[in-house]
Amino acid sequence: MKGLKGKNVLVTGATSGIGQAIAVRFAQEGANVALNYRKSPEDTEQTQAMIDDVCSQVKGCGVKDFPVQGDVSKEEDIIEMVDEVVGQLGSLDILVNNAGIQTESPSHEIEAADFDRVLNVNLRGAYLCARQALKHFLANERPGVIINVSSVHEIIPRPLYLSYSISKGGMENMTRSLALEYADRGIRVNAIAPGATITPINESWVNDSEERAIVESHIPMGRAGTAEEMAAITAFLASDEAAYVTGQTLFVDGGLTLYADFRTPWSA
Ligand code: NAD
Repeated sequence: MKGLKGKNVLVTGATSGIGQAIAVRFAQEGANVALNYRKSPEDTEQTQAMIDDVCSQVKGCGVKDFPVQGDVSKEEDIIEMVDEVVGQLGSLDILVNNAGIQTESPSHEIEAADFDRVLNVNLRGAYLCARQALKHFLANERPGVIINVSSVHEIIPRPLYLSYSISKGGMENMTRSLALEYADRGIRVNAIAPGATITPINESWVNDSEERAIVESHIPMGRAGTAEEMAAITAFLASDEAAYVTGQTLFVDGGLTLYADFRTPWSA
């Protein structure tokens, strides 16, 4: 795709799923990739193996890889991470806010700490990463691109996942507000909104054929999406092919937001 070769990209939450596929896709397009990961004390070895694996895939494309540790719910980690990426790669051109978590609970029973945790990673973290990237773009008078990985739940209500839905709804407004604020300085801000995608976050149904059939029955195209399909649209929006697109969320959902229930008329 036009305009990605030689660019420096930072992808948050790059060890698995959509983030991993995005990191690899940018590398295939000739971009250098900084891969953010979060080391939690309990799974250090597993995280290390995952980051090593994606880094070797990136390196295999003949571009620079730079693994960078950081918890996007912590402001100090984000500031340090963006500084380290700029120090290591020389500059930053594209930020992909991909890291995300979800918790399930009836809305009247959500613990405040759990609510905050989801918002802190999915929305506040994405904003703080964007803030640091914007500071860099502006200080160096260079164009830049931010892509937020949102969800169909930025518009579809999701009972039992209130904090997740709120975070993605907020992400839509953040995408549009930042796009408007910085459009005249060569900075574009867009989002992708994946539908049901085959990644570890969905392990409850991905490997269970009955559960998966139920999920896929709600998707007009009849199947879940792949992480690679999400990565392709992310790369497109970050590329010069989308040079005149800003403030948009592109739904990548097999028609999920067309509401399969309306396929055949059920009311006069
Ligand atoms: P995933 O669980 O494989 O990936 C999430 C990534 O975020 C992991 O690498 C995880 O380590 C990282 N992460 C979590 N907390 C972090 C933190 N505090 N700091 C840094 N990294 C952190 O799941 P995924 O499906 O690949 O999700 C990626 C994004 O796509 C998320 O924002 C998710 O909301 C969004 N999404 C996924 C789907 C889907 O069906 N899989 C649908 C819509 C949107």
